[in-house]
Amino acid sequence: MEWDIASLEDLEHYIWRCTACGTCKVAYDFGPPSTCAPICPAGTEFGFEGNMSSKGKIAFARGILDGTLEFDEELLDDMYRCTICGGCQNQCQLDHKPFIPEIMEAMRRKAVEAGKGPLPLHKNLTQSLKDYNNPYQGPRRLRTDWARPFKKAKKPIKNIMKEPAEALFYVGCTGAFNQQARAIPTATASLFQKLGLDFGILGDNEVCCGSTAMRVGDAEEFKRLATHNLELFKKLHDEQGVNTIITSCAGCYRAIKKDYILSQDYDQMMDGIRVVHTAQYLHELMQKGELPITGELKTKITYHDPCHIGRHLNKFEVDTEGSELWPGAYLGMSEEDCIYEEPRELLAAIPGVEFMEMERNRSNSYCCGGGGGVMTGFGEWAAKNASLRVEEGMGTGAEVMASTCPFCNFNLGSGAQRIQSPMKIMDVVELLDQVITEQE
Ligand code: SF4
Ligand code: SF4
Repeated sequence: MEWDIASLEDLEHYIWRCTACGTCKVAYDFGPPSTCAPICPAGTEFGFEGNMSSKGKIAFARGILDGTLEFDEELLDDMYRCTICGGCQNQCQLDHKPFIPEIMEAMRRKAVEAGKGPLPLHKNLTQSLKDYNNPYQGPRRLRTDWARPFKKAKKPIKNIMKEPAEALFYVGCTGAFNQQARAIPTATASLFQKLGLDFGILGDNEVCCGSTAMRVGDAEEFKRLATHNLELFKKLHDEQGVNTIITSCAGCYRAIKKDYILSQDYDQMMDGIRVVHTAQYLHELMQKGELPITGELKTKITYHDPCHIGRHLNKFEVDTEGSELWPGAYLGMSEEDCIYEEPRELLAAIPGVEFMEMERNRSNSYCCGGGGGVMTGFGEWAAKNASLRVEEGMGTGAEVMASTCPFCNFNLGSGAQRIQSPMKIMDVVELLDQVITEQE
C-alpha cells in the first residue's frame, strides 16, 4: 500500500512562515462569552518564550533542515515535550497554520528515520506495538477481558470474524487494556445491546489503530498497523456485511479519519464503509427519536473536548496554485467535521442534568495533556496538565467531567487523583447507559 506522508522537506515552504509573533500563546475568542486563557500545555509548563511552544518547535524544524541542529538528547527531549494538541494551530493565522502539528510530527519522523527518535520510553511503546499489536504490552487474550461479564450474563457480543453484523464496534487499545477506561467499552456495548443494534467486535483479533506510532514519529509502524486495519475493514465489509465502524475512542477516530486517508488506497478500501464516533452515532439515533432516555441524573456536568475529535478535524483551505492570493496562502478553515455539539446535546437531553461550560471549550479546549506521547514520555507532566483541566472544570461548579475518549478519561482521572479532586471523570456513554433501559 502506498502512503503520502509528508517529510520535513516537503513542508519547508511553510516552516519559514512563522513570525514568532506569539499569538499562539493564548486562546482568544471575542465571544460572548469572551475567552482569553493559556492554550499551550508545553508553554504553560516550560515557558512560552523559550523553546517549548509552537514558535520554538518550528524554530527547531528550521535548524534541523539547515543543518544547524542535530538530534542530540536535549533536542529530542524538547521536541517530544508537546502534546500535538493543535491549540497553537487554532490561534495562528499565517500560511503554515494548516500544517503546524504536521511540522512537529514530521520532525519526529525525521528523528526516527535517522535512528535517533523517539525517546527511550516511547521505544518501549513502539516495541510493544510490534510484539503485541497494542502500546500497553498487553497479551492478546486480555483484550477481551472487559467483555467477559456480557458472556456471563448470557448476552454475548458477536465476534464479527465469525458472525455477520451491520456495525463493527472498534474498541481501541486504551478501552481494552486500561483498567479505568474499560468502563467505556463496557458501557458502549451495554447501551448498544439495550438499543438492539446489530454490532460485533473483533475481540482478540483487534489490533491498534496506529495513532500512537504516528504521533511519536514511527511512520513505518503506523503504516503496518493501518494497512492491516484497512485490509481487514474491507474484508469485513465484503464478507460480513459491515457498513459502519463505530469507535468510542477519539484517538482511533482521528487516526481512521485523518491518518488513514494518507493511503492512496483509502477510497477503495473504505468504499461503502462509514466511520463514526459513538457520540455522533448516538446523536443521530436521538435525532431520529430512537434514543429512549427514561431515567434522570440530578448532576452538574461539564464537558471536556478531546483534541482528536475537535480541532484535529478542522479542514483547511490552501491556495495551492496561488490563484487567489499567492502559492500556499492560507485561505480559511471549516469546523464542519469537528464533533463539538453532539456530546453536549446528548448530555443536555438527560433529564436533571445541569450543563456547565468551561471557559476553554470546543476549538479552544485545553488539552488533557497526555497526547502526542506525553503520557508515556513524561507521565508526571501529563497528570499535572490534567489536574489544570480538572481545576478548570471544578471552577464551573460541576461534579462530573464528561468526555468522549478513553485516553482523556484515564489522564483526567490521574489529574483528579493528583489534586484529590472530588470531580468524577466519566464518558458520555457511561452517563447515557445509566438513563436508558432495555427495549422490549
Ligand atoms: S505559530 Fe503562528 S501564532 Fe505562533 S508564533 Fe508562529 S506565526 Fe505566531
Ligand atoms: S501542539 Fe499543543 S502542546 Fe504542542 S506547541 Fe502547540 S499548543 Fe503547545
